[in-house]
Amino acid sequence: MNEYDSNRIYDFAKKINYFKTENLKEVDCYVLNTCHIREKATEKVYHDIGRIKKKFKNKKKPIVVVTGCVAQAEGEILLDKEKYIDAVIGPQSYHDFNKTILKIEKNSKKINSTHFDVIEKFDNLNLIKNSSNKVSSFLTVQEGCDKFCKFCVVPYTRGAEYSRSIQELYNECKNLVDNGVKEITLLGQNVNAYNFKGKKLSDLIKEISDIKKLERIRYTTSHPVDFSEDLIELYKVSNKLMPLIHLPVQSGSNYILRKMNRNHTVEEYLDLIERLKKINPLVKFSSDFIIGYPGETDKDFNKTLELLKRVEFINSYSFIYSPRPGTPASKMEEVKSDLSKERLIIFQKTAEEIKTKYKKSLFNKKVKVLFENKVKNDESFFGRDEYQNPVIAKSNENLQGKIKEVNIINGNSNTLFGEEIRKTDRENCAA
Ligand code: SF4
Repeated sequence: MNEYDSNRIYDFAKKINYFKTENLKEVDCYVLNTCHIREKATEKVYHDIGRIKKKFKNKKKPIVVVTGCVAQAEGEILLDKEKYIDAVIGPQSYHDFNKTILKIEKNSKKINSTHFDVIEKFDNLNLIKNSSNKVSSFLTVQEGCDKFCKFCVVPYTRGAEYSRSIQELYNECKNLVDNGVKEITLLGQNVNAYNFKGKKLSDLIKEISDIKKLERIRYTTSHPVDFSEDLIELYKVSNKLMPLIHLPVQSGSNYILRKMNRNHTVEEYLDLIERLKKINPLVKFSSDFIIGYPGETDKDFNKTLELLKRVEFINSYSFIYSPRPGTPASKMEEVKSDLSKERLIIFQKTAEEIKTKYKKSLFNKKVKVLFENKVKNDESFFGRDEYQNPVIAKSNENLQGKIKEVNIINGNSNTLFGEEIRKTDRENCAA
């Protein structure tokens, strides 16, 4: 979501003549768009500002703005602690970006813009075109979260759930596709809770599926509890909805899930997976895991490991639990750090084995790849298949923006390497 937000902040900034530059000597304004989900996010901000300070030691100070969830969570503290920062702008106020910069240009007063006004933000965003012209683009459809998982800061930094209107999303999506975008990833902290006047995520997907040149639709991140029947049904009929579902489970232990306030059991999660597989046997899953959550015993951890093996997630994102200030979990007693590290190593080793086995199963198989860009200094193109596996294929033809069948020759646990199947190859195959 921060990538989407950064692009949209830039769409605003261009209106007041600020443009991206690779030439750091000519920077007039730094924007640090931050994420508070990962550990030590605030320290990273201070560290980055230290680097900027050094660079501009004997030069005119650039304007420095911190945006995103760290700005929201830390606001005034950041401004007090680091005098080099000129403004903090929270994720629901970045439509204030231009106003803020112009004010700083005029007088050097510090500005804290961290009010929650998501409606005003999107009303303002709708007035400026989303200028992304990449092959694959993000589109924020929903923000905020009402789930209050005990470890998570999102309900405090992004606020309550808010869904944008189907019409404005259709318009933004159409504009992106007219600019050359072929794949859209619908974004939301809890995307399948999308609800605009009774219209759900499945309705939105059906609506944008009508855009002719839009080839692929993805969405992230979903909560198992909000996975409704209409969305499951869509996997039977939609040929634009991609078959990889990112479905965070966090733990394989019911005791820990309860402690996290996830509001579902492992059995319910597995039942959902079975129903999705039944409706479309091609679907595969990826997930997020928190290792060493307060109270996690060896038994709980082993249950998480069992779940990983049982579902065979093709991608598993795992992190050691780290407390976020202000969340209920931050007051719970932590698992010893050595133990959490040990468990993470075991978990990631198993996850890697599953991933490698899966990647190997694709050797000598055909996959459909949407090519995103040319590989630097090489006659190859980079793209992703329907399951988001990175694929590199050699070609003399410009494949950017095209969907091609590729025969996978080999690969490693990350990237697959293959050859584009040309028409003549296919004819030969058929013969
Ligand atoms: S559902 Fe996701 S965004 Fe919402 S509180 Fe839980 S972890 Fe955070």
